[in-house]
Amino acid sequence: MNQLLPKPRGKLSENRALNDLTWLRVGGPADYLFQPADIEDLQHFLRDLPAAVPVFPMGVGSNLIVRDGGLRAVVIRLGRGFNGISVDGNTVTAGAAALDAHVARKAADAGVDLTFLRTIPGSIGGAVRMNAGCYGSYTADVLRKATIVTRQGEVLDLSPEDLNFRYRQSDLPDGAVLVSATFEGPAGDPEELHTRMAAQLQKRDETQPTKDRSAGSTFRNPAGFSSTGRADDVHDLKAWKVIDDAGMRGASRGGAQMSPKHSNFLINTGSATASDLEGLGEEVRKKVYETSGITLEWEIMRVGDPLKE
Ligand SMILES: Cc1cc2nc3c(=O)[nH]c(=O)nc-3n(C[C@H](O)[C@H](O)[C@H](O)COP(=O)(O)OP(=O)(O)OC[C@H]3O[C@@H](n4cnc5c(N)ncnc54)[C@H](O)[C@@H]3O)c2cc1C
Repeated sequence: MNQLLPKPRGKLSENRALNDLTWLRVGGPADYLFQPADIEDLQHFLRDLPAAVPVFPMGVGSNLIVRDGGLRAVVIRLGRGFNGISVDGNTVTAGAAALDAHVARKAADAGVDLTFLRTIPGSIGGAVRMNAGCYGSYTADVLRKATIVTRQGEVLDLSPEDLNFRYRQSDLPDGAVLVSATFEGPAGDPEELHTRMAAQLQKRDETQPTKDRSAGSTFRNPAGFSSTGRADDVHDLKAWKVIDDAGMRGASRGGAQMSPKHSNFLINTGSATASDLEGLGEEVRKKVYETSGITLEWEIMRVGDPLKE
């Protein structure tokens, strides 16, 4: 296949392991990993890549389980050349490889409130694709424009309507790679914004296994369980609660464990395979269904092939 692939200026690696590129540190190799030098390099590569070759854009892998057999695709990972951040008034434009935390900090320095991004460990590409959010704010609330390179190599600007944001989801044309995004945040006092972010980080460390290898929340909070309006029932039903009720806090399989600290966090204790992690997740879904009749939906994306026997 290599002869069929365009020769980019950036780095193209064959049979490249992906485990070191994901937060969970598991997963087999990609057929190819492409790290474009800049937007023109990405455009030319995609334009010249045979249409039948699948493309998978990845961010920093903080919401991914790559299966042990790896990915039959060209994985595209943006790096330097796609991580600039600029602020103009209340408008912040960031490259898709910029880390959410860096964008939040730089915005706060300039008095723009994108503080909710501070505790999300992903990149801007992943934030737009996943409509990342926390503390009641979502990417969809602040996004004004996203720029993509299509699978055919064209640069296109998408509006929030084009992206059709939903809970932890947005629509992108097949094979498109997000290259930058423009946000507009409320004005705030820089010192107050930095203080708020420090408090949010501390709260995270107290309640979530932030030092462990995880991919954040494993399952979405169950839909259809809105508040009854009673004083003692003001929260939607949480995934961690039904996992606790099913007795699965701390459950393990191989090197995978449902974190004793937060039962909706699936962690790699050191030696887990993707199969251990996904298998444990499926066991949790089964136990939760048996105990509460609720079908949990995965929030972590699982991609690639299982290992062949
Ligand atoms: C400790 C921890 C805490 C977390 N807390 C939160 C939280 O509070 N809120 C929250 O929403 N999430 C949270 N997450 C999950 C995760 O950080 C987010 O989903 C994040 O937005 C994923 O970004 P990423 O760059 O890691 O994307 P990846 O995991 O690499 O990819 C996720 C998806 O985005 C797509 N994608 C990534 N980059 C691009 C691109 N340039 N172009 C096109 N598609 C792209 C991928 O194809 C894939 O479909 C947490 C994760 C961890 C490990």
